[in-house]
Amino acid sequence: MESQKSKMDTILDCVYYLVNRPKIWFSTISGKAYNKPINITLLLTFKCNLNCISCFFDKKENKQVLTKKEIFKLIDQFKMWGIKQITLSGGEPLVRNELLEIITYIKKKGLWVGIITNGTLITKNISKKFSELGVNKVSVSIDGIGKINDKIRGGNNFKRSIRGLNLLLKENIPEIRINSVITSKNLENIEKIYDFAKKRE
Ligand code: SF4
Repeated sequence: MESQKSKMDTILDCVYYLVNRPKIWFSTISGKAYNKPINITLLLTFKCNLNCISCFFDKKENKQVLTKKEIFKLIDQFKMWGIKQITLSGGEPLVRNELLEIITYIKKKGLWVGIITNGTLITKNISKKFSELGVNKVSVSIDGIGKINDKIRGGNNFKRSIRGLNLLLKENIPEIRINSVITSKNLENIEKIYDFAKKRE
């Protein structure tokens, strides 16, 4: 119990420093300067159902992740520090079975919530839940159209991610994005990714 408390205190000390250090933070979206970050990204897990070649997580490592209780405590603290938005990522956040509970908790605090996912685990039920819970933004990671994506992300995952994306598009979610990691392997596909996204606006 004691060691858990000190682990949590260390995390809170680190985040407190990052949030409150006397430096001007910039929002890349608005170009405006803020004296604090407005969005914090929480990595809920290092686990993932995919094994993309560009992934920087070592999924073999048995890294410790925060418990649900610790996450709730962090969210309370973020709210007190004036953080407005929380983005949930991983690994793949959908492999964590407490995801919907965590979203519910964030929304109860009156905060904006975004999710970054590879989209392959999105079901009709999950996309509906995201909408009902008031998820503000979902970003689906796709690194190319068709085979290019699958060369990077493996298997038949383009179809699976697009299925997830289409389910999300049917729901009342204010912002849905495609995230792409551009490398020499998919550079020539940028235009196709753009056209693909444009058609779904
Ligand atoms: S989906 Fe994301 S976390 Fe999963 S293997 Fe690919 S890059 Fe890594």
